[in-house]
Amino acid sequence: MSVDFAVLGAGLMGRLVALALARAGHSVDLYDRGGPEGEASAAHVAAAMLAPLAESVISEPLVVRLGRVSLARWPELLRTLPEQVFFQQNGTLILWHPQDRDQAALFSARLRRLDPALAGQGGWSELRGREIDRLEPALSQRFSRGLYLPGEGQLDNRGVLIALRHALESTAARLHWNTDMAPERARADWIIDCRGLGAKPEWRALRGVRGEVVRVCSKDVELTRPIRLLHPRYPIYIAPKPGGVYVIGATELETEDLSPASVRSALELLSALYSVHPAFGEARILEMSAQCRPALPDNLPEIRWNGRRLIQVNGLYRHGFLIAPAMLDAALALIRRVLGHGAEAWESWREEQAWPSLYRLDEAA
Ligand SMILES: Cc1cc2nc3c(=O)[nH]c(=O)nc-3n(C[C@H](O)[C@H](O)[C@H](O)COP(=O)(O)OP(=O)(O)OC[C@H]3O[C@@H](n4cnc5c(N)ncnc54)[C@H](O)[C@@H]3O)c2cc1C
Repeated sequence: MSVDFAVLGAGLMGRLVALALARAGHSVDLYDRGGPEGEASAAHVAAAMLAPLAESVISEPLVVRLGRVSLARWPELLRTLPEQVFFQQNGTLILWHPQDRDQAALFSARLRRLDPALAGQGGWSELRGREIDRLEPALSQRFSRGLYLPGEGQLDNRGVLIALRHALESTAARLHWNTDMAPERARADWIIDCRGLGAKPEWRALRGVRGEVVRVCSKDVELTRPIRLLHPRYPIYIAPKPGGVYVIGATELETEDLSPASVRSALELLSALYSVHPAFGEARILEMSAQCRPALPDNLPEIRWNGRRLIQVNGLYRHGFLIAPAMLDAALALIRRVLGHGAEAWESWREEQAWPSLYRLDEAA
Protein backbone atom coordinates (compact mmCIF):
# COMPACT_ATOMS: atom_id res chain seq x y z
CA MET A 1 0.00 0.00 0.00
CA SER A 2 1.48 3.37 -1.01
CA VAL A 3 1.22 6.09 1.65
CA ASP A 4 1.68 9.83 1.22
CA PHE A 5 4.65 11.16 3.27
CA ALA A 6 6.14 14.61 3.77
CA VAL A 7 9.69 14.45 5.11
CA LEU A 8 10.81 17.75 6.64
CA GLY A 9 14.54 18.48 6.62
CA ALA A 10 16.97 17.02 4.11
CA GLY A 11 20.06 16.82 6.27
CA LEU A 12 21.37 13.40 7.14
CA MET A 13 18.29 11.74 8.67
CA GLY A 14 15.78 13.34 6.31
CA ARG A 15 17.61 12.10 3.21
CA LEU A 16 18.00 8.60 4.60
CA VAL A 17 14.35 8.32 5.66
CA ALA A 18 12.99 9.86 2.43
CA LEU A 19 15.07 7.52 0.28
CA ALA A 20 13.98 4.41 2.20
CA LEU A 21 10.30 5.43 1.97
CA ALA A 22 10.54 6.30 -1.74
CA ARG A 23 12.29 3.02 -2.50
CA ALA A 24 9.54 1.18 -0.62
CA GLY A 25 7.08 2.64 -3.14
CA HIS A 26 5.56 5.42 -1.03
CA SER A 27 4.76 8.89 -2.27
CA VAL A 28 7.37 11.24 -0.76
CA ASP A 29 7.80 15.02 -0.66
CA LEU A 30 11.12 16.07 0.88
CA TYR A 31 11.54 19.69 2.03
CA ASP A 32 14.64 21.60 3.06
CA ARG A 33 15.12 25.27 3.70
CA GLY A 34 18.62 24.98 2.24
CA GLY A 35 19.86 23.81 -1.13
CA PRO A 36 20.58 20.35 -2.54
CA GLU A 37 24.18 20.21 -1.24
CA GLY A 38 22.83 20.19 2.31
CA GLU A 39 24.80 23.31 3.18
CA ALA A 40 22.25 24.37 5.83
CA SER A 41 22.63 21.11 7.78
CA ALA A 42 24.88 20.06 10.64
CA ALA A 43 25.71 17.07 8.44
CA HIS A 44 27.47 19.34 5.93
CA VAL A 45 29.94 20.58 8.55
CA ALA A 46 30.50 17.31 10.42
CA ALA A 47 33.75 15.38 10.46
CA ALA A 48 31.70 12.16 10.11
CA MET A 49 33.95 10.06 12.29
CA LEU A 50 32.35 6.75 13.20
CA ALA A 51 34.04 6.30 16.53
CA PRO A 52 31.87 4.46 19.08
CA LEU A 53 34.78 3.58 21.34
CA ALA A 54 36.42 7.02 21.36
CA GLU A 55 32.99 8.54 22.01
CA SER A 56 32.25 6.04 24.79
CA VAL A 57 34.38 8.03 27.23
CA ILE A 58 31.89 10.90 27.03
CA SER A 59 28.68 9.19 25.88
CA GLU A 60 25.97 6.88 27.17
CA PRO A 61 26.19 3.13 26.42
CA LEU A 62 23.12 3.48 24.16
CA VAL A 63 25.13 5.66 21.76
CA VAL A 64 27.97 3.14 21.75
CA ARG A 65 25.53 0.31 20.97
CA LEU A 66 23.79 2.24 18.20
CA GLY A 67 27.21 3.19 16.86
CA ARG A 68 28.45 -0.40 16.77
CA VAL A 69 25.39 -1.58 14.86
CA SER A 70 25.60 1.38 12.49
CA LEU A 71 29.29 0.97 11.76
CA ALA A 72 28.55 -2.53 10.45
CA ARG A 73 25.52 -1.25 8.50
CA TRP A 74 27.17 1.71 6.69
CA PRO A 75 29.01 -0.27 3.97
CA GLU A 76 25.84 -2.09 2.87
CA LEU A 77 23.89 1.18 2.96
CA LEU A 78 26.55 2.96 0.88
CA ARG A 79 26.53 0.12 -1.66
CA THR A 80 22.92 0.98 -2.53
CA LEU A 81 23.90 4.55 -3.56
CA PRO A 82 24.57 5.47 -7.19
CA GLU A 83 28.16 6.61 -6.61
CA GLN A 84 31.04 5.53 -4.45
CA VAL A 85 31.41 7.36 -1.15
CA PHE A 86 34.69 7.41 0.76
CA PHE A 87 34.35 5.10 3.79
CA GLN A 88 37.11 3.47 5.76
CA GLN A 89 37.45 1.44 8.92
CA ASN A 90 41.08 1.99 9.66
CA GLY A 91 40.90 2.86 13.35
CA THR A 92 41.40 5.99 15.43
CA LEU A 93 44.74 7.07 16.88
CA ILE A 94 44.67 8.94 20.21
CA LEU A 95 47.71 11.09 20.94
CA TRP A 96 48.85 13.63 23.52
CA HIS A 97 51.83 15.78 24.28
CA PRO A 98 53.96 14.70 27.31
CA GLN A 99 52.62 17.50 29.52
CA ASP A 100 49.06 16.23 28.96
CA ARG A 101 49.65 12.66 30.11
CA ASP A 102 47.00 13.10 32.86
CA GLN A 103 44.39 13.45 30.12
CA ALA A 104 45.58 10.17 28.65
CA ALA A 105 45.38 8.43 32.04
CA LEU A 106 41.80 9.65 32.41
CA PHE A 107 40.86 8.57 28.89
CA SER A 108 42.38 5.07 29.39
CA ALA A 109 40.68 4.70 32.77
CA ARG A 110 37.32 5.44 31.15
CA LEU A 111 37.98 2.96 28.36
CA ARG A 112 38.89 0.33 30.96
CA ARG A 113 35.59 0.87 32.78
CA LEU A 114 33.63 0.19 29.61
CA ASP A 115 31.78 -3.12 29.38
CA PRO A 116 34.18 -5.33 27.30
CA ALA A 117 31.23 -6.42 25.15
CA LEU A 118 30.80 -2.79 24.11
CA ALA A 119 34.48 -2.31 23.30
CA GLY A 120 33.90 -4.30 20.11
CA GLN A 121 36.25 -6.06 17.76
CA GLY A 122 39.88 -5.29 18.37
CA GLY A 123 39.09 -3.22 21.45
CA TRP A 124 41.95 -0.83 22.00
CA SER A 125 45.67 -0.98 22.77
CA GLU A 126 48.43 1.20 24.13
CA LEU A 127 51.16 2.18 21.66
CA ARG A 128 54.81 3.13 21.98
CA GLY A 129 56.52 5.62 19.68
CA ARG A 130 57.72 3.10 17.10
CA GLU A 131 54.26 1.58 16.76
CA ILE A 132 52.79 5.04 16.22
CA ASP A 133 55.41 5.71 13.53
CA ARG A 134 54.47 2.46 11.78
CA LEU A 135 50.78 3.39 11.75
CA GLU A 136 51.33 7.00 10.72
CA PRO A 137 54.79 7.48 9.18
CA ALA A 138 54.09 11.22 8.76
CA LEU A 139 54.21 11.53 12.57
CA SER A 140 57.52 9.71 12.87
CA GLN A 141 59.24 10.41 16.21
CA ARG A 142 56.77 13.08 17.20
CA PHE A 143 54.82 11.13 19.85
CA SER A 144 56.16 8.63 22.35
CA ARG A 145 52.82 7.23 23.58
CA GLY A 146 49.40 6.73 22.09
CA LEU A 147 46.25 4.63 22.05
CA TYR A 148 44.93 2.75 19.05
CA LEU A 149 41.25 1.93 18.55
CA PRO A 150 41.45 -0.27 15.41
CA GLY A 151 37.73 -0.89 14.82
CA GLU A 152 36.71 2.73 14.26
CA GLY A 153 35.72 4.26 10.94
CA GLN A 154 34.89 7.45 9.10
CA LEU A 155 33.25 8.56 5.89
CA ASP A 156 32.94 11.55 3.62
CA ASN A 157 29.97 13.52 4.97
CA ARG A 158 29.49 15.69 1.90
CA GLY A 159 29.91 12.70 -0.41
CA VAL A 160 27.10 10.91 1.46
CA LEU A 161 24.77 13.92 1.20
CA ILE A 162 25.40 14.22 -2.54
CA ALA A 163 25.04 10.50 -3.20
CA LEU A 164 21.78 10.40 -1.21
CA ARG A 165 20.47 13.32 -3.24
CA HIS A 166 21.36 11.57 -6.52
CA ALA A 167 19.70 8.38 -5.25
CA LEU A 168 16.58 10.38 -4.37
CA GLU A 169 16.56 11.97 -7.82
CA SER A 170 16.33 8.52 -9.34
CA THR A 171 13.13 7.79 -7.39
CA ALA A 172 9.69 9.37 -7.78
CA ALA A 173 10.27 11.50 -4.64
CA ARG A 174 9.61 15.24 -5.09
CA LEU A 175 12.49 17.32 -3.73
CA HIS A 176 11.66 20.85 -2.56
CA TRP A 177 14.88 22.82 -1.97
CA ASN A 178 15.00 26.30 -0.41
CA THR A 179 11.58 25.64 1.07
CA ASP A 180 10.94 26.33 4.73
CA MET A 181 8.36 23.89 6.08
CA ALA A 182 6.60 23.15 9.38
CA PRO A 183 4.41 20.18 10.33
CA GLU A 184 1.19 22.21 10.43
CA ARG A 185 1.77 23.41 6.85
CA ALA A 186 2.72 20.06 5.34
CA ARG A 187 0.03 18.49 3.19
CA ALA A 188 0.52 14.77 3.49
CA ASP A 189 -1.06 11.86 5.33
CA TRP A 190 2.11 11.39 7.37
CA ILE A 191 4.85 13.82 8.37
CA ILE A 192 8.34 12.72 9.32
CA ASP A 193 10.12 15.64 10.93
CA CYS A 194 13.92 15.43 10.60
CA ARG A 195 14.68 19.15 10.81
CA GLY A 196 17.35 18.88 13.52
CA LEU A 197 17.49 22.15 15.41
CA GLY A 198 14.92 23.59 12.98
CA ALA A 199 12.27 21.53 14.82
CA LYS A 200 12.71 23.54 18.02
CA PRO A 201 9.41 25.49 17.67
CA GLU A 202 7.54 22.18 18.08
CA TRP A 203 10.08 20.46 20.38
CA ARG A 204 11.08 22.99 22.98
CA ALA A 205 13.56 20.73 24.77
CA LEU A 206 15.86 20.73 21.73
CA ARG A 207 18.98 22.85 22.00
CA GLY A 208 21.84 23.60 19.66
CA VAL A 209 25.44 22.89 20.59
CA ARG A 210 27.69 25.00 18.43
CA GLY A 211 30.62 23.31 16.72
CA GLU A 212 33.27 25.07 14.66
CA VAL A 213 35.59 23.29 12.26
CA VAL A 214 38.39 24.25 9.90
CA ARG A 215 39.00 22.45 6.60
CA VAL A 216 42.59 22.52 5.41
CA CYS A 217 44.44 20.94 2.52
CA SER A 218 47.99 19.74 3.10
CA LYS A 219 50.47 18.46 0.53
CA ASP A 220 53.14 17.90 3.18
CA VAL A 221 51.46 15.75 5.84
CA GLU A 222 49.73 12.51 4.94
CA LEU A 223 47.64 10.98 7.69
CA THR A 224 45.66 7.85 6.98
CA ARG A 225 43.17 7.77 9.85
CA PRO A 226 41.48 10.19 12.29
CA ILE A 227 43.78 11.46 15.01
CA ARG A 228 42.44 12.74 18.32
CA LEU A 229 44.72 14.97 20.31
CA LEU A 230 43.95 14.95 24.04
CA HIS A 231 44.31 18.37 25.60
CA PRO A 232 42.91 19.93 28.80
CA ARG A 233 41.64 23.07 27.03
CA TYR A 234 41.11 22.24 23.40
CA PRO A 235 41.03 18.58 22.50
CA ILE A 236 40.91 18.35 18.71
CA TYR A 237 40.55 15.76 16.02
CA ILE A 238 42.09 15.72 12.58
CA ALA A 239 39.90 13.72 10.21
CA PRO A 240 41.46 13.00 6.80
CA LYS A 241 39.15 13.25 3.77
CA PRO A 242 39.95 12.38 0.15
CA GLY A 243 42.32 14.68 -1.75
CA GLY A 244 44.65 15.71 1.10
CA VAL A 245 41.82 17.49 2.90
CA TYR A 246 41.59 17.42 6.69
CA VAL A 247 38.68 18.46 8.88
CA ILE A 248 39.96 19.92 12.13
CA GLY A 249 37.39 20.12 14.88
CA ALA A 250 35.54 20.79 16.78
CA THR A 251 34.57 23.28 19.40
CA GLU A 252 31.64 22.37 21.64
CA LEU A 253 29.85 25.48 22.88
CA GLU A 254 26.49 25.65 24.63
CA THR A 255 25.01 28.28 22.36
CA GLU A 256 22.78 28.36 19.31
CA ASP A 257 24.85 31.10 17.73
CA LEU A 258 25.24 30.26 14.04
CA SER A 259 27.57 33.13 13.18
CA PRO A 260 30.93 32.36 11.52
CA ALA A 261 33.80 30.72 13.46
CA SER A 262 35.48 33.00 15.98
CA VAL A 263 39.13 34.05 15.86
CA ARG A 264 39.67 32.40 19.23
CA SER A 265 38.32 29.05 18.03
CA ALA A 266 40.33 29.27 14.82
CA LEU A 267 43.50 29.99 16.83
CA GLU A 268 42.87 27.07 19.19
CA LEU A 269 42.05 24.57 16.46
CA LEU A 270 44.91 25.62 14.21
CA SER A 271 47.55 25.88 16.93
CA ALA A 272 46.63 22.41 18.17
CA LEU A 273 46.90 21.19 14.57
CA TYR A 274 50.31 22.84 14.22
CA SER A 275 51.43 21.16 17.45
CA VAL A 276 50.68 17.74 15.92
CA HIS A 277 53.00 18.50 12.99
CA PRO A 278 54.61 21.87 12.12
CA ALA A 279 54.36 21.02 8.41
CA PHE A 280 50.64 21.72 8.81
CA GLY A 281 51.82 25.35 8.96
CA GLU A 282 51.98 25.25 5.17
CA ALA A 283 48.51 23.71 4.78
CA ARG A 284 45.95 25.89 3.02
CA ILE A 285 42.78 26.90 4.84
CA LEU A 286 39.86 25.96 2.62
CA GLU A 287 37.04 26.87 4.93
CA MET A 288 36.02 27.63 8.49
CA SER A 289 32.47 26.82 9.42
CA ALA A 290 30.09 26.69 12.33
CA GLN A 291 26.89 24.73 12.84
CA CYS A 292 24.76 23.54 15.72
CA ARG A 293 24.39 19.93 16.73
CA PRO A 294 20.73 19.19 17.54
CA ALA A 295 20.62 17.87 21.12
CA LEU A 296 18.04 16.88 23.73
CA PRO A 297 18.64 17.45 27.48
CA ASP A 298 20.16 13.97 28.03
CA ASN A 299 22.17 14.21 24.78
CA LEU A 300 20.44 11.05 23.56
CA PRO A 301 18.49 10.64 20.32
CA GLU A 302 14.75 10.14 20.30
CA ILE A 303 11.95 9.11 17.92
CA ARG A 304 8.71 10.70 19.02
CA TRP A 305 5.19 10.02 17.76
CA ASN A 306 2.31 12.35 18.58
CA GLY A 307 -0.31 9.61 18.30
CA ARG A 308 -1.62 11.15 15.09
CA ARG A 309 0.29 11.80 11.84
CA LEU A 310 3.59 13.29 13.05
CA ILE A 311 6.79 11.35 13.76
CA GLN A 312 9.92 13.27 14.82
CA VAL A 313 13.47 11.91 14.62
CA ASN A 314 15.89 14.15 16.47
CA GLY A 315 18.55 14.68 19.13
CA LEU A 316 21.37 13.08 17.16
CA TYR A 317 23.74 15.59 18.78
CA ARG A 318 27.41 14.88 17.96
CA HIS A 319 26.68 11.34 16.79
CA GLY A 320 24.49 11.67 13.71
CA PHE A 321 26.81 9.80 11.34
CA LEU A 322 27.86 7.37 14.02
CA ILE A 323 24.29 6.23 14.70
CA ALA A 324 22.33 7.09 11.52
CA PRO A 325 21.81 3.57 10.08
CA ALA A 326 20.47 2.26 13.41
CA MET A 327 18.27 5.36 13.77
CA LEU A 328 16.95 4.83 10.25
CA ASP A 329 16.02 1.22 11.02
CA ALA A 330 14.38 2.27 14.29
CA ALA A 331 12.39 5.05 12.58
CA LEU A 332 11.23 2.72 9.80
CA ALA A 333 10.15 0.14 12.38
CA LEU A 334 7.98 2.77 14.08
CA ILE A 335 6.54 4.01 10.78
CA ARG A 336 5.57 0.44 9.80
CA ARG A 337 4.06 -0.11 13.20
CA VAL A 338 1.91 3.03 13.38
CA LEU A 339 0.71 2.60 9.79
CA GLY A 340 -0.41 -0.93 10.62
CA HIS A 341 -1.68 -0.74 14.20
CA GLY A 342 -1.81 2.85 15.41
CA ALA A 343 -1.28 3.18 19.16
CA GLU A 344 -2.76 -0.23 19.92
CA ALA A 345 -0.55 -2.17 22.42
CA TRP A 346 2.09 0.56 22.14
CA GLU A 347 3.97 -0.29 25.34
CA SER A 348 4.32 -3.99 24.57
CA TRP A 349 5.52 -3.16 21.04
CA ARG A 350 8.04 -0.69 22.42
CA GLU A 351 9.41 -3.19 24.92
CA GLU A 352 10.02 -5.70 22.14
CA GLN A 353 12.23 -3.32 20.14
CA ALA A 354 16.02 -3.49 20.09
CA TRP A 355 16.21 0.07 21.47
CA PRO A 356 12.99 0.69 23.46
CA SER A 357 14.26 3.90 25.06
CA LEU A 358 14.48 5.56 21.63
CA TYR A 359 10.71 5.71 21.31
CA ARG A 360 8.27 8.09 22.93
CA LEU A 361 4.54 8.44 22.43
CA ASP A 362 3.89 12.08 23.18
CA GLU A 363 0.29 12.95 22.51
CA ALA A 364 0.92 16.51 23.71
CA ALA A 365 3.36 17.05 20.85
C1 LIG B 1 31.06 20.59 13.95
C2 LIG B 1 30.33 19.28 13.92
C3 LIG B 1 31.04 18.10 13.85
C4 LIG B 1 30.37 16.87 13.84
N1 LIG B 1 31.10 15.72 13.75
C5 LIG B 1 30.46 14.53 13.75
C6 LIG B 1 31.20 13.33 13.68
O1 LIG B 1 32.43 13.32 13.54
N2 LIG B 1 30.52 12.15 13.73
C7 LIG B 1 29.15 12.10 13.84
O2 LIG B 1 28.60 11.01 13.90
N3 LIG B 1 28.44 13.24 13.91
C8 LIG B 1 29.04 14.44 13.87
N4 LIG B 1 28.33 15.60 13.97
C9 LIG B 1 26.88 15.51 14.23
C10 LIG B 1 26.02 15.33 12.99
O3 LIG B 1 26.37 16.25 12.00
C11 LIG B 1 24.55 15.52 13.38
O4 LIG B 1 24.24 14.67 14.45
C12 LIG B 1 23.62 15.20 12.22
O5 LIG B 1 23.90 16.02 11.11
C13 LIG B 1 22.16 15.37 12.64
O6 LIG B 1 21.37 15.00 11.54
P1 LIG B 1 19.92 15.60 11.32
O7 LIG B 1 19.48 15.11 10.00
O8 LIG B 1 19.10 15.32 12.53
O9 LIG B 1 20.13 17.18 11.31
P2 LIG B 1 20.88 18.11 10.17
O10 LIG B 1 21.95 17.31 9.56
O11 LIG B 1 21.19 19.37 10.83
O12 LIG B 1 19.70 18.32 9.12
C14 LIG B 1 18.55 19.07 9.42
C15 LIG B 1 18.03 19.67 8.10
O13 LIG B 1 16.75 20.27 8.35
C16 LIG B 1 16.67 21.45 7.58
N5 LIG B 1 15.69 22.35 8.19
C17 LIG B 1 15.72 22.93 9.42
N6 LIG B 1 14.62 23.66 9.63
C18 LIG B 1 13.87 23.57 8.51
C19 LIG B 1 12.61 24.08 8.11
N7 LIG B 1 11.87 24.87 8.92
N8 LIG B 1 12.11 23.76 6.89
C20 LIG B 1 12.82 22.96 6.05
N9 LIG B 1 14.04 22.42 6.38
C21 LIG B 1 14.54 22.73 7.59
C22 LIG B 1 18.09 22.03 7.62
O14 LIG B 1 18.29 22.92 6.55
C23 LIG B 1 18.93 20.75 7.53
O15 LIG B 1 19.26 20.46 6.18
C24 LIG B 1 28.96 16.84 13.92
C25 LIG B 1 28.23 18.04 13.94
C26 LIG B 1 28.91 19.25 13.94
C27 LIG B 1 28.11 20.53 13.95
